[in-house]
Amino acid sequence: MRCPYCDHTKSTVVDTYRLTLEIIRIRRCDRCKNYWQTVEKVDRKVSPPEKAEERIQMNLFEANDDKEN
Ligand SMILES: [Zn+2]
Repeated sequence: MRCPYCDHTKSTVVDTYRLTLEIIRIRRCDRCKNYWQTVEKVDRKVSPPEKAEERIQMNLFEANDDKEN
């Protein structure tokens, strides 16, 4: 995360607030010691059953491969 003051790339997260759809982080630059905040937003909901199904199919595919060998 780039510092907006001096463009330094290293910063330390000093505080985190969790809201319903947003995570706010207070960061401090490792070089100039200035503080700023970043907001992470939940962009898209991923359906867990769909993901799980994908994983099961992959496992079945791998199992079939094992039988051939
Ligand atoms: Zn800085």
